[in-house]
Amino acid sequence: MRKIAISACLLGKKCRYDATDNKDEKLLAKVEGCELVAFCPEDHAFGSPRPTMDLIETKEGIKAICNTTGADLSSPIEAYAKDFFDTHADIELFVGKDRSPSCGVCSAKVYDADKRLLSEQEAGLMAKEAKIRNIPAIDAEDYR
Ligand code: SF4
Repeated sequence: MRKIAISACLLGKKCRYDATDNKDEKLLAKVEGCELVAFCPEDHAFGSPRPTMDLIETKEGIKAICNTTGADLSSPIEAYAKDFFDTHADIELFVGKDRSPSCGVCSAKVYDADKRLLSEQEAGLMAKEAKIRNIPAIDAEDYR
């Protein structure tokens, strides 16, 4: 059975920043019969609801910065991602919620320190870890 890692919000978990979901019936029909391993780094690290974050290019690389406090939230997301893929070493495909700063695969926005848009084709912090490990990865909107 094909083992797919998938953003939990796409399955209906209310783990978005505002405690809602992104349930995607079309996507669910497509992955029917696969073994799904749900993940949500932001809910795990910060709970739901929580403040929003954006990816900002800094001297230390691309960081997830809290829109409310300005705090760098990257470390717990990156730690969750590493632990997730260490635990599930046999994942065959990563399906991430498009445009998420954590889960977007080729669709996350990155800004400079003045919030000018630099790119909208980047990987979120968890998707980046999937790519580092050469796990095939795709945005949900491209997979449906
Ligand atoms: S996009 Fe990723 S981090 Fe955001 S709610 Fe969905 S699973 Fe969680």
